[in-house]
Formats: sequence, C-alpha cells, structure tokens
Amino acid sequence: MQRKNRMQRQATFVRWCHDCNVPLLRKKCDICGGRGKAISVTGNGEVRPAFETEKLEINKQVTNSYGSRTGKLMRKKTIYLAKTSGVDKVDEVIVDGVIIGNLEFDILEKLYRFIPSIEGCVMFDKSSIRKIRVKKMPKGHLKGKYIDSDNIVTLSSEKFNIGDYAILIFPNKMIGKGLIKRELTEAKNVIKIIDITREELAFSNQISDIQKAIIANKGALNIIEKEAKEFIKASMEKNKKPLTVAFSGGKDSLVVLELMKEVTNNFEIIFIDTGLEFPETIDYITMMQKRLKRKIRLLKNDKDFYSEMDTFGPPAKDYRWCCKTHKLAPMAEYVSLNYPLGCLTFEGKRKSESFSRAMSKREDSNPFVPGQVSAYPILEWRALEVWFFILSKKLRYNKLYDMGFERVGCWMCPSGLDCEFQRMKDIHYDKYKKFNQYLIDWAESRMLSKKYVRLGFWRWKDFPKKI
Ligand code: SF4
Ligand SMILES: [Zn+2]
Repeated sequence: MQRKNRMQRQATFVRWCHDCNVPLLRKKCDICGGRGKAISVTGNGEVRPAFETEKLEINKQVTNSYGSRTGKLMRKKTIYLAKTSGVDKVDEVIVDGVIIGNLEFDILEKLYRFIPSIEGCVMFDKSSIRKIRVKKMPKGHLKGKYIDSDNIVTLSSEKFNIGDYAILIFPNKMIGKGLIKRELTEAKNVIKIIDITREELAFSNQISDIQKAIIANKGALNIIEKEAKEFIKASMEKNKKPLTVAFSGGKDSLVVLELMKEVTNNFEIIFIDTGLEFPETIDYITMMQKRLKRKIRLLKNDKDFYSEMDTFGPPAKDYRWCCKTHKLAPMAEYVSLNYPLGCLTFEGKRKSESFSRAMSKREDSNPFVPGQVSAYPILEWRALEVWFFILSKKLRYNKLYDMGFERVGCWMCPSGLDCEFQRMKDIHYDKYKKFNQYLIDWAESRMLSKKYVRLGFWRWKDFPKKI
C-alpha cells in the first residue's frame, strides 16, 4: 500500500465543539469539557479565521446567490477558511462547524465564486427565497440526473443563470444541490442534480466569536507556547551564537518575535526589504519599531529589481532568482560583516505552509548565508494556532491580512496567488501597472501568447505537466 505523506495523512484535522460553537485545536474543549467532532477538510488543515475583505466577499456572494436574508444571517457569523488546492485560491468556508461551500477565484474571469456544498444548501434552505421546487421525484439514482423544466417551480421571481448552483426542494423533503445547465425556459435537461441529502442541518444559535474560541483552546495554546519557548532556550544553549529574529512583517514571524521577547531581550530584529514589499508592510515595520521601542535592522539590496529582470527575466516559481539576490545576498553580507562568528536566527517557517516546507528540519543552515544557523520554533504550528496566539495576545498584525491577503511577502511573488495580484491592482495600481506592462513587453519581445500574462503563465519558467 502506498504510504501517504504527512500532509495527506492529516486531511481530517479540525475539530469543532458544537455545544460552544468553536473550533478546537485538540480534542477537549476548555469551556464545556466536551470532546468536539472532527470536520474533514480537503486540504492540509491550514484553517484560519476569515478577515474583513474575505468576509465581505463571502457575504456578497451568498447574498447574490441566496438572497438578502441569508446574507444578513451570514454577516453575524464568525467564518473560518480551510485552504485547499486548486488553480488559484480555493478555500472551504466553515460556519458553525459545517463546510458550507468553497470560495474560489476564477483566473479567467478574475472574480470570486461561491460554490455551496450540499450541507450549505441545507443550511441556506430556511432563510433563502432563491430555490427551486421539484414537482415530481425523479426515478432511480438521483446524483447526476437531469431535470426538465416542466418538473420545476422557481420559488422566487429572481432569474437563475446558467452555471448557478440552486437549492432544490424535493417532494419527499430531501434537499438537493442543482447546477443550472440551460435556460429554465428551455424544455429538457435544464438542471443537473449534483448532490442530494436527507440530513437536517441549521445555523447554530450559539455565538461563535474568536475570543470564545481562544478560551476554548487555552490549554492547547499554553502547551504549544511552552514547547516553542523550550525549543528556543535549548537552541540558544546548543548553538551559543549571537541571536537574531528574521521579521518579515507576516503573521508567523510576528509569533516568533513575541516568543523570543518572552524568553530573552538579547537579540537583534532583522527585516529584509526586497524592494518588492507592500507599502503597508513598510509602514507596519515602522510602526512596530515604535511600538517595541527598539530598532529593527533593515537590510536591502540596492540593485533595482527591474534592471535585474532585464538580465534574469521575470522570476518564476521554478526560478526564484530574486530570493537569492534580494533576500539571501543582503543577509549573507550583513552576517559576514557583523557576526564574524556566525549567528542563530529564529524564523517563522511552518511545515504546513507548503509541500516544499513539509519536510523541513527544526534547525538548518543555508550555504548562501555562511555562519548563520536558522531555527524554527513554530515549525509544526497550524495557521489557526498562529492566529489564536496572535489574537489572544492582542498583537498588532499587518493590516494586509484584513485587506484580503493570505500571505504578505513580496507583492508580485510568482509563488503568490493571482487573486492577490489582482487585489494589488485595486490597492496599488501604479505598481501593478508597471509590472504588468513589463510582463506584456517581455512576452511580446519573445513572441509569447497573450495568455502568458493574462493567465499568469509567467509564474513558471518550465511549465509543469498539468499546465
Ligand atoms: S518575489 Fe518571491 S521569489 Fe522573489 S524575493 Fe520575493 S519571495 Fe523571493
Ligand atoms: Zn465546548
């Protein structure tokens, strides 16, 4: 039998206490003592709270598809998102311990879509006016079957479009998820039954806010915090080198910075400005410097990124030259000049961030930065643990998370998501326009298809087989 890797093994990860209506980091709920029920998420268990912009997008989608009553109901909810793989951003949307659907970014249309799950259809049924009653129960196996227009009644005057997902109400009270395949005025095969259920589900009456979730997980948070601090102390003891913290302005390095502050004061904070940072990140670093009342060392390669691109071409997922020139090179120079005997750098790397990081060790060194040992106190932490830690300690995080970004590294990183690149267009059009035009000119000069830029093919130097 083929062995599953670590990320696949943990596909069922999140637990939920339905009595308190909160997610759990371990089996036991610290509020009621209950054991919680597992929710099977499709991805690797990277669950995070939905932030402001994501919540607005979900509410907009739900309101458009299922009516304002459902949208209003959703606005009161704490939403969690479970990252799932897809062409671009795909998140499973968890509300009241139920995956109600997927929020997906369509790279062709450059917009988000909400695809309800069958459980979502059941949950929306009570509040939604936009649904379709099936008059006569079709015979035989229902999943995949088509329904004709003379067998349906739409329960609202609003129009359904081809590609919409509709809530189907069957005569035996079963609820279905139907995909509109043709105009409902046409005669045959207008709706395809995607799924159907007898299960009864409803939104919870219990409040589910983040502070309550933090109380429910206090014990689990204490355990991981204690373990991370012990690792830091052991690593300091073992390596006996001057200490630094690599602070990127993102959530993971914020956690490591806080853990370090609680262990020792004797370390230098280093921020590497690649020159491709969001202006919000630069502002955040300035703010943090004032807030911490200590200097954050800023390292930067002064070479202009665009002139470097003229030499190397646009960076790609499989050709991340700028990480070497704009991150590792300034760090290597700084270490060689300021830490002649080397240094121990604590970083916020986590295994569940990506497949390439899943095999990482808790300490390592990079041949591009001689003398530096890197250590990762939160290597095993999940996104939900990171966020609960940050929110429980009321740490000031980068506002880009509230603005719809899941990661806050370089704004045009080829390893980023197209939806985030498009969001960049909304908030910093000048930067987006300059880079996009560079890509267009690059593609034209090499007789590459227009899709190279529009569909984000520039993100690969050598296309993977699936593309
Ligand atoms: S754009 Fe991506 S690959 Fe380039 S330096 Fe930034 S993080 Fe590294
Ligand atoms: Zn509970």
